Amino acid sequence: MTPATETTTATEELISLDPATGREIGRVAITSAEYVVDAVARSRAAFAEWRKTSFTERRRIVMKAREVILDELDEIARLISVESGKPFAEAISMEIAPVLDLMQYFARKTEKLLSPARRGVGLYSLLGRSSKIVYHPLGVVGIIPAWNYPFAIPLGEAAMALMAGNSVIIKPSELTPLVGLKIGDIFEKAGASKDLVQVITGDGRTGAALVDAAPDKIMFTGSVATGKKIAKAAAENLTSVVLELGGKDPMIVFADANLELAADAAVWGAFCNAGQSCSSVERLFVEESIAETFTAMLVDRVKKLKQGIGTGEDISIGAMSSERQLKIVEEHVEQFRRDGATIAIGGSRNESAGELFYEPTIITNARNDMRAMQEETFGPTLPIATFKTEKEAIELANDSEFGLTASVWTGDVGKGKGVAVQIEAGSVTVNEVLYTHGIGQTPWGGFKNSGRGRTHGIEGLMELVQPQHIHINRIAILPNAWWMPYTPTAAKTFRGFAKYFASGSILRTTRLVPQLLRRIRELQKSRKS
Ligand code: NAD
Repeated sequence: MTPATETTTATEELISLDPATGREIGRVAITSAEYVVDAVARSRAAFAEWRKTSFTERRRIVMKAREVILDELDEIARLISVESGKPFAEAISMEIAPVLDLMQYFARKTEKLLSPARRGVGLYSLLGRSSKIVYHPLGVVGIIPAWNYPFAIPLGEAAMALMAGNSVIIKPSELTPLVGLKIGDIFEKAGASKDLVQVITGDGRTGAALVDAAPDKIMFTGSVATGKKIAKAAAENLTSVVLELGGKDPMIVFADANLELAADAAVWGAFCNAGQSCSSVERLFVEESIAETFTAMLVDRVKKLKQGIGTGEDISIGAMSSERQLKIVEEHVEQFRRDGATIAIGGSRNESAGELFYEPTIITNARNDMRAMQEETFGPTLPIATFKTEKEAIELANDSEFGLTASVWTGDVGKGKGVAVQIEAGSVTVNEVLYTHGIGQTPWGGFKNSGRGRTHGIEGLMELVQPQHIHINRIAILPNAWWMPYTPTAAKTFRGFAKYFASGSILRTTRLVPQLLRRIRELQKSRKS
C-alpha cells in the first residue's frame, strides 16, 4: 500500500472531521492527477505479477487481512464511527461483520466460482465441437465509494477484485479518507505486495483523474449525478463501470403482517446509519385499515431511541455525515410540511446532541406524488402513506425513478412473493428489510436509476473478470460447409442450415445431411482443381 500522503506531489489537503463533534481527526493530501496516472501504471505492474498467483496465495492474503481486522476490531470500529458519525454498534454490525463474512466466502469460493466451465453448444457438438469458458482477470480495478459505508463497500469490492486476480486502487470519499487509508494499511499488514492495493485520497477531482487514467474497471458507489459523469468520462476509454447509485426504497405493510416485527423493522430500516443507507426505507406504505395503529407503534419505538455521539455503545442514532446532507433532510421535511403532511415525531435538528444531529422523524399523511417522496432524502425520516389494495401498493412502490431494494410485510408468504416479483427493484425482501447488502453470496445492484451492473454474488464476480471462450474442433479433417468459395450448392446448403440446423432439432437436421455431404465434396474438389 502506498499512502498518497507520502508520495503525492499535491499541495492541497483534505481535513477529516468528526461530524459528531466537529473536531479535526486528520489531514490527507488531495492526490494530483499526475500522481494518479503514476499510481495506475504501478498498479498495472503489480497486476502483471498478481495475476500469476494461485488461488491459494490470494486466499492467504485475504484471510490474513481478515485476521488483521479481527485483531484491530474495536480500533477500526471506533475510526469508522468517529469519521462517519455512525454508532459504534453499527460500525461492527453493518460494516465489519458483513465484510468479514464476504471475505471468507470469496476467499474460499472464488476458485470454484471461476473454474473453467464446459458450455453446451447444441448441434455444433454433433460436428465434433466443444466449448469451454475460462475467466481472466481484468487488470486494474478502480474503486470509488461513497462515505456512508466507507469500510464495508470498498473493502468488499477490493477483496473480490483481488481474488479474481486484479490489482486495486481505492479513492475513498473526501468525507472518510482515514477509513480508506485503513483498508490499505490492512492489506499491507496482510502481506500484499507494494502497489497491489493502493489508496489515493482526494475529492471528486481525484476520482475524475482516476477515471481518466483508464483503469480496466470502475466500481462506483454514489449519487446518480456523479454516476452519470463517471459513465460519460469512462466512455472515452471504453472503461466499463459498475454504478451503485441512490434509492427511495419502499416498504409495504399489509394488514395481515406481524405488526410488532414490521414496526421494529421499519424503525431500523429507516433510522440505522441516521437514514444514510442507499437501501434505507424512505417510503412506508401501510394498508389503510392499520395505518393509525401502526403509526402509534412506530412513534412509541422512536421515543425509546437514544441519539448522541456514535462512539457511545448505547447510541442508536448518531450524527449525520455533513451539513450538506443535513440541509437536504431539513429541506425535505419542510417540503412535507408545505405539502400538507404531518410530523408525528421529530422534525428538527437535535441541537442538544450536537450541530449535525437530526431527530428521527416520522411523517404521516404523505402522498407518493409529493416531491420529498420522489427525491432521495438520505436522512432519518420515515414518511408514511396508505394504500387500499395490493395493486395500489405495487403501483405506489414502482412509482419512482429508483429501484434499489423494497420490502413487503405480510403473514402470507405466497402473497409476499407474488408482490415481490412485481416490484421494480434489484433486491426485494419479504418480511425482512435493508440488510441484503450484507449477504455477499447474492447479487447487489439496482433497477432503473439505482444503478447499472452488480456487486456481490457470482454476478458481481463476473463484473471483475473477462470470460474467454475456448472452442475446439476435435475432428478437424473436413472443411466447413460455410467456407469459401460460395456456389449455388453452397446457397442451397445455407438455406438448409437456416431451415433445419437452426431449428435446434436433431431430427430435422438429419434432413440436411445429404446436402451437407454434397457441399463438402464440392469444397474438396475445388481445393484440388
Ligand atoms: P457522490 O456521488 O457525491 O460521491 C461518491 C464518490 O464519488 C466520492 O468518492 C467522490 O469523491 C467521488 N466523485 C465525485 N465526483 C466525481 C467525479 N466527477 N468523478 C469521479 N469521482 C467523483 O456520493 P456521496 O454523497 O458520497 O454518496 C451518497 C450516494 O451514494 C447516495 O445517493 C446513496 O444512495 C449512494 N449509495 C449507493 C449505494 C448502492 O449500493 N447502490 C451504496 C451506498 C451509497
